[in-house]
Order: sequence, then structure tokens, then C-alpha cells
Amino acid sequence: MTKQPLDSAQPVLDLDQALPSQTHEVFNQPTALSDYNAYSAHSVLQHYVACFDGSWGESQLTDYGALCGGELLHAGFAANHYRPEFISHDRFGHRIDQVNYHPAYHELMRQAIKAGHHNLPWLKPQAGAHVVRAAIEYLHTMADPGSGCPLTMTFAAVPALQQQSELAEQWLPRILSEQYDPSNQPYFNKRGVTIGMAMTEKQGGSDVRANTTVATAINSAAPEQGYALNGHKWFCSAPMCDAFLVLAQTDAGLSCFLMPRWRPDGKKNGFFIQRIKDKVGNVSNASSEVEFRNAFAWRIGALGKGVRTILEMVALTRFDCMVGSSALMGLATQQAIHHTSGRKAFGQPLHQQPLMQNVLADLALEAEAGLSLAMRLAHALDQGQNEHEQSLFRIGTAIGKYWICKRAPQLIAEAMECIGGVAVVKDNVLARLYTEAPVNAIWEGSGNIQCLDVARAFERDQQSREAFCSELERAYGQYPSYDQWCSQLIQDIRQGTPAQGQLRRFVERMAIAWQAATLIQFAPANVAVAFVQNRIEQPHAMFGTLNEASDWSRLITRFQAQL
Ligand SMILES: Cc1cc2nc3c(=O)[nH]c(=O)nc-3n(C[C@H](O)[C@H](O)[C@H](O)COP(=O)(O)OP(=O)(O)OC[C@H]3O[C@@H](n4cnc5c(N)ncnc54)[C@H](O)[C@@H]3O)c2cc1C
Repeated sequence: MTKQPLDSAQPVLDLDQALPSQTHEVFNQPTALSDYNAYSAHSVLQHYVACFDGSWGESQLTDYGALCGGELLHAGFAANHYRPEFISHDRFGHRIDQVNYHPAYHELMRQAIKAGHHNLPWLKPQAGAHVVRAAIEYLHTMADPGSGCPLTMTFAAVPALQQQSELAEQWLPRILSEQYDPSNQPYFNKRGVTIGMAMTEKQGGSDVRANTTVATAINSAAPEQGYALNGHKWFCSAPMCDAFLVLAQTDAGLSCFLMPRWRPDGKKNGFFIQRIKDKVGNVSNASSEVEFRNAFAWRIGALGKGVRTILEMVALTRFDCMVGSSALMGLATQQAIHHTSGRKAFGQPLHQQPLMQNVLADLALEAEAGLSLAMRLAHALDQGQNEHEQSLFRIGTAIGKYWICKRAPQLIAEAMECIGGVAVVKDNVLARLYTEAPVNAIWEGSGNIQCLDVARAFERDQQSREAFCSELERAYGQYPSYDQWCSQLIQDIRQGTPAQGQLRRFVERMAIAWQAATLIQFAPANVAVAFVQNRIEQPHAMFGTLNEASDWSRLITRFQAQL
């Protein structure tokens, strides 16, 4: 090829000239939704706290909201970036079974424990205590769901432990303490302890009756002196907890035990961490595989009735899954609204373009439906002495856990799409919410297990059937389509439970009906109308399919973080 002579009249780019330090100006990017008060900015959360007797907790929630929108939100990133690390032995070769966490994780734990995430309704039982505590959990989940795992387990272990008064006397003061003490030493030397749970084994998670871990009384003439447990657990989250509720087989069948990390004689217990699982989500929470070799444990509850005993705990962990998934949906929605209101495409603000508005409004509607139901159930917990509310809680946790935890991954994927490519990048909280989203649906009884539980509750307890139906009827008289839809559902419920293969359809109908009932009773009319029209009258599969009549911008404004 012949070289063309340069035309001296044309400007020539001198590559040796100093380059400008910046190639371009950054514009059309929103500010980050961080360093704000996650509670003061969340008027929908405030609304349900007030609806369900929690107004007295306002200042506590405002304080925790400031932490969760700021310091703890940042801590959440660090606690997930710097993974927990398992140290099996010390440098001299002694087995130590230590998990080291980043300081940010400890700060999340310390602040949550100070705020009452694990103890508030047990320490200060009063109207609205479970509601305020659920709001604390909601806020904490926005900062970091992973550390929520041991906090929830500690909170939920209390009713099960209360079944064994001498153990409760010894352990509850430390469990209910406001001090977080992460040190690895015997529980009796600590002022604050945390509690975990180990049920799942390799050969069976949902089917805990397949557990092969065996418990043998150390002194068969005096089993109250304790048991030796041998076996394994396939999942044991937060293995630095000070004790674990464990299921193991005895001659009388599956029984529940409290296994301390350190034995009462001050020696290290036969509790051996094999490894920490390398998970895609819920990263700040160390989930381990463990083996028990003559591990000391006390029995809790009746011999052979372990499932019944641990269900006292599991009912509450399931409830927390529901609150947690509502929080994931709430934060994803607020992030999507915030991002799109700070960005233009094709010359127009994104959040004002009709297709985007419809998506955002639909996300807001779903996030509020989840939150309202979670708070309604917290209200049921607060009225533990009332039989109707007890039955409602029994059936409601299964319905709500199934539905809310299943809606979260769909909603979060859609919220990511609103934000675009940057939502997939790890320094955006959406990426973390996305990997976190399926977890709540899987643990503490996966979707199908919840559906089977609804059927079991209905079969065994006529009262829960009636409690549920009357809850739907409370919202009658305002929306004919709701009344009609629910009366068919109630008729079906009273006729019996469908075949197993149809249970998901059945539970889905119940969940939507109950969300509608809750919104009709407690939400502003425009939210209830939009829900009835778009989830009952004209349901669609995708988000962003609300009808024209729903006031999209009002729905968006209501859920938007109020900065
Ligand atoms: C991050 C994380 C942390 C965890 N931490 C703990 C912990 O600390 N302690 C602990 O004990 N466990 C823990 N788990 C385990 C968790 O509780 C189990 O994974 C869960 O209970 C499901 O059990 P599995 O994995 O054995 O699945 P399986 O029981 O094998 O279930 C697989 C699928 O089959 C479905 N299924 C089961 N039975 C039926 C049926 N009869 N009909 C139709 N479908 C059915 C289930 O719904 C599920 O979808 C954790 C899990 C995760 C992901």
C-alpha cells in the first residue's frame, strides 16, 4: 500500500500532547439512595406501624432507621464483601472451630441486638411490641439480611426454650441481654449469647424425620443430666452461636435438644465445623456443615416430640422470612423509584414515562401488599391470647411465607431491570438483594412445604379455616368483585382442601385474597382499589401491567423514599 502524503491544510492529531485527565463529564446518573433515614423516609412502613399499635416505637425506629440507611447499610456491603472465614485449628494445632467475621458484621449484630431485634416483645410485652420488632427486622434487612439469620434464630428460640424451665432460667437472661458478645468462650462467662438451629441433614432437609443424628442419655437413669449427640448437620448457619436447637433421634423418636458450643464443665463441646458453604447469596451469614461427636446437649420439650417442640421456633423464623422478604421488596422498589427519578432516557425522566411508571407503580403495590400482610401477622402475634388471632397466625405464616417469599425474587429482578445494567454490578445493593431473594423461600420450609402445611392446618384445625374465612369477610361490603371472588374461595375452603397437586393454586388464591382484605381495611383507598382491580379482577403475570384506572404516580409517590 502506498503511503498518502499528509495534506498540510488538514489539522493533525498530536498523540504526544498531554491528555486531559478526564475523558468526559459524568451526568444523567442519579445520586445513591444511601445515608438517609430508612424509617423516616418510609411512610408506608410508618403507616403500618401506626395501624397496628406500634406508634410508641417511633423514636426507637427513627434511631434505627438512621443507622440502617447509613452506617449499617455501608456495613452490609463490607460484611458481604469480606466473607466469614473458618479457622479449624490454632497455630499450635488445637482444634478451635472458629469463624472470623469482618468487623462490619459484628457492628451489624451489635447494633441490632441493642435495638431489640432479638428480644423486644419478650422483654417489653405490650400492644404493638411484635409490630415494632418486625419493623426493626424490616429495617435491618435493608442493611444486611445475612446477619438477620442469627438474630431471628435467637428471637425465635425463646418460646421453645421456655418449655424447659430450668434451662430457660439459665439461658434466657443471656439471650435477652442487650449486649452482643462474639467471644468464643463458655456461655456462662458471657453476658450476651446468640442461638442457632440445626435440623437439616444431607439425606433430608424438609423431611426432618429422616434425620440420623442420634442422642443417647449420658446417664439413662437420670436423662435430665444430658445427652450425647452423634451425627451431622448439612446446614448450620451462624456456627459461632453459643448454642443450637438440634433435632436428633432417640428410642422414643425425634427429639429436640439444646446443644451449647462449650460444655457446662467449661470444655469445648464435640461440635465440629467441617466447612463453610460457599453461597451465592446470604454471604455475610456463615452457613456451615457440622459434625457432632459425643456432643453434650440438654433435651427440650417431651421425648419423641422434637418436631412439635422445634416448630415453636420455626413458626417465628417463618414469620421473619415473610417480614424479611417484604423488606427486600420494599428496598428494591424504593431503589428503582429513586434511580429512575434521577435518570433520563430519550430526553424524558425515566420515572415519568408511561411504561416505566406502570412498572414502578406495580412494584410499589406489591411491596405494600407484602408489608401490610407481614404487619398484620405481627399484630396477630401481639394478640397471642386471642384464639382467632392465634389460629390466624398459625395459618397465616404458611400462606404468607409461601407467597411473599416467592414474590420477592420476581419483584427484585424487575426492579433491577428498572435500574438497568448497573443493578447487576456488586456495588449496587440490588445485586445483593437479587442473590438474597430466593433464600427466604427455601429455608424454614420451602414453598411446597408451606402449601402442605396449609392443608395440614386446615385438616387438623377447623378453627384456622374459620379464622381465615372471617378475616376475609371483615373486608366485605366495599368492592363487589372482591366480595364475589372471596365468597367462592370461602366456599372452596369450607368444602375441604384440594388434591396436593393443586395446593399452590389454592394457597395463591388465599394469599391474594388476604392481601386484598388487609389493604381494604388498612391502606388508603387508591391502593386497595388498584390491588382489587389488578390482582383479582384483571390479574396479569408480569409487573407493569396495571390497568389505566390505577393512579400510577400516586402509587409511586406513596412508596418512594421521602428524602
Ligand atoms: C442460606 C441457607 C442457610 C440455612 N441454614 C440452616 C440452618 O441454620 N439450620 C438448618 O437446619 N437448616 C438450614 N438451611 C437448610 C434449609 O432449611 C433447607 O435447605 C430446607 O429446609 C430444604 O431442605 P433441603 O435443602 O434438604 O431440600 P429438600 O428437603 O430435598 O427439598 C427440595 C425441594 O423439594 C420440595 N419438597 C419436599 N418435600 C416435598 C413434598 N412432599 N412434596 C412436594 N415437594 C416437596 C421442597 O419444597 C423443596 O422445594 C439453610 C439453607 C440455606 C439456603
